[in-house]
Formats: sequence, C-alpha cells, structure tokens
Amino acid sequence: MPARMHNWLEIELKQIKEKGLYRELKTAESSPASSVVINGKEYLMAASNNYLGLAGDRRLIRAAIIAHEKFGIGSSGSRLTTGNTILHDQLEQRIASFKNKEAAMLFSSGYLANIGVISSLAGEEDCILSDELNHASIIDGCRLSKAKTIVYKHVDMEDLEKKLKEAQGYRYRFIVTDGVFSMDGNIAPLPDIVKLGKQYDAYVIVDDAHATGVLGENGRGTSEFLNVDVDVTIGTLSKAVGTEGGFVVGSQKLIDYLRNKARSFIFQTGMSPGIAAASKKAIDIIEEEPDRREHLHRLERKLREKLVNSGFYVLGEQTPIIPVIIGEADKAVQFAQKLLEAGIYAPAIRPPTVPEGMSRIRLTLMASHTEEEISYIHQSIERIGKELKMMKG
Ligand SMILES: *Cc1c(COP(=O)(O)O)cnc(C)c1O
Repeated sequence: MPARMHNWLEIELKQIKEKGLYRELKTAESSPASSVVINGKEYLMAASNNYLGLAGDRRLIRAAIIAHEKFGIGSSGSRLTTGNTILHDQLEQRIASFKNKEAAMLFSSGYLANIGVISSLAGEEDCILSDELNHASIIDGCRLSKAKTIVYKHVDMEDLEKKLKEAQGYRYRFIVTDGVFSMDGNIAPLPDIVKLGKQYDAYVIVDDAHATGVLGENGRGTSEFLNVDVDVTIGTLSKAVGTEGGFVVGSQKLIDYLRNKARSFIFQTGMSPGIAAASKKAIDIIEEEPDRREHLHRLERKLREKLVNSGFYVLGEQTPIIPVIIGEADKAVQFAQKLLEAGIYAPAIRPPTVPEGMSRIRLTLMASHTEEEISYIHQSIERIGKELKMMKG
C-alpha cells in the first residue's frame, strides 16, 4: 500500500483508539453453544444471537450434510440463473407458512434483505419514516432508495404522526421499524404504528430479525406477539433460526415484484444448499419445541428482575436482549474486561453503535443457558458494579 495512504489511515486509527472506540476481532475455537473457547480458555457465552441454541444443533448439522452430499457446497449462481434448487423453493414455502403469509423470498443475509426490499419499494418521489434506532441495514436501505427519509424519535407515536402529516405530499409513504430493537431490547408499538399507517396512508415494513423464533406463542415474531398484521416483514435466519440468510414475507404480488426488482437478490449468488436445508429443519424445531422459547423467557425475566433489584439501569422488555447501561465507553470496556476475567463473554457496546454516555454491556440469553448460569452472570455483574463504584454499598 502506498505510504501516502498510510499516513492518514494512521491518524484516523489513532483518533479511534484515543476515543476508546477501537474494534478488534475475538476468535472462537469452538462451536456455538452456551460456552465458547477463545485463546484456549472457556467462557460462558452471554452475547450471542443464537437465542434458541440451534446454531450447533445436531439435527441442523445433519440436514446440512445430507443436502451438501446431494447438491454440493456452493449454489454456483444467482437464483434467477443457475443457483436455485428445490431446497431453496422448499425453504421459501416453509418460511411463508411459518409466518402465515402468502409468499417468501430468500436473500443471502438480513442485511441484503433490508437494502434490497426498501430500495425496491421506495423511490425518489416517496417518503420513508424511519425510527431513529433502526438497524444500520435499514438506514442503508433508505439511503439506496433515494426516497426522502424522515427519522422519527424512537417509538414516539406523537412524533411519527406529526411527521406523517408533513409527508402527505409524497407519492407513497412507508413506515419502517425494527420489530425488536437490537441494542435496546425493546419491542416496537406495532398496533399504534399500523393504525397510523392506515390513517395517513403509509405502508408498514417491519424488520423482525430479533423476534423471529423468539416472540409469539409459536415464535412467528412481533406480529404474532402483538396480534397485528403488517404489509412487509423482513427477517434473518442468522439469529434464533441458527443458520444464516435473510428473507422477506408478504403477499404473492409483493414477492413477484421483489424478485424482479431487488438488486441484492438478483445479483447475488443463491445461499448454500446446506444452509437452506438446515434452515428449514430449524423452523420445524421452532414450531415443534415451544419449551425452548418458554425457558428462554423464564431466564430473561429472572435476570432482568435481579439486575433491576441490584440497582442497574436495564433497558428493554420481554426479549432476551438485556442491555445494562454503564455510561462512558472506557468504563464499559473495563466492565467487559472484568466480566472476561470472571469467565463471562459479553462485550461492551460503544458509540457510534449507541449514543455517547450510553455505552453498555449487552447481555443476550439463550435457551441453552441454565438457571445456575443466569445466577452466576447476575452475581458477577453485581460484584463488578460495586468494584467500579456504580452502585451504593
Ligand atoms: C442482525 C440484523 C440484521 C442483519 O441480518 P444478517 O442476517 O446478519 O445480515 C438486520 N436487521 C436487524 C435488526 C438485525 O439485528
């Protein structure tokens, strides 16, 4: 690389480090489970998106192996050219039936689903109303669409209504929101959003990345949990489903349209056949084993309650994402380091992912955790909080 470029990269990196915002990879040497091995040492995993513990499930692995034996490893082409197999078709049908929708379409990731769907539906003459805490892939989808994007205050329905009024001059209006907010662990007020959408003639798009498999009696997501219907639901297979890939569900017309429009679908190689087969198996398990979800929510309620009783500022509700607010970025890093020393893996989340002064330890729980592990996490956090003088006593 030319030294000329090195100079400014060096300066930028130094600034990032000085702010305590430098990011580095941690490398796991084990399969995804309640514990993880890093640098030869075992830690209790408290930060994974593997909510139902399916990412290492033998049944998924077996489904993938059988599929790979028959269909190979790579799909070798875009779905629209040579990369489509019966496994892809079956998975799309399975996702549609799971979500109680007419049709589904796969993407290679949730990120690609968001940018593809949003930029296909909204155009230059349209307006998107976007929650201020929406995921980065939604923000990027809005940018790609070239639509006017108006950000409304986080889950603030008064602000959304005010901005919907301002948006009446545009051709179409879209309200887009996370179903469960990934950094705050709270649930979007979908019944109110849907009502406003009807009142002000706006379509509702929900990104259910953290809710699929987790919320609702059958794990169908926020729509099931809150008993509402939305126009477009986007999701990922890379969290509770335990594999990888993204999807969109809705009417058959919507899917027909997106197949012809979404560039991140058209110009992307189809997902690996093994992933498709494993994902279908995972959705079967999500429906057939509600006890995983029940156990997860029992643990989540228990840990929230314990942390609040210990005096911590804990965000969110009724989801396995439990953000514990620490404050400044460097203190959160210190907290995470002490957790590591206690054998718990839960990294600090810092700006720009979250606002200044709101750095946090973002705990996430899994159905494979035990009550004892949850107690240990609570005790360790309480002890470290006292060491760092975060609470009285
Ligand atoms: C993780 C996530 C995505 C991206 O999904 P991938 O499959 O990892 O690309 C999109 N939206 C939200 C809200 C997420 O949390």
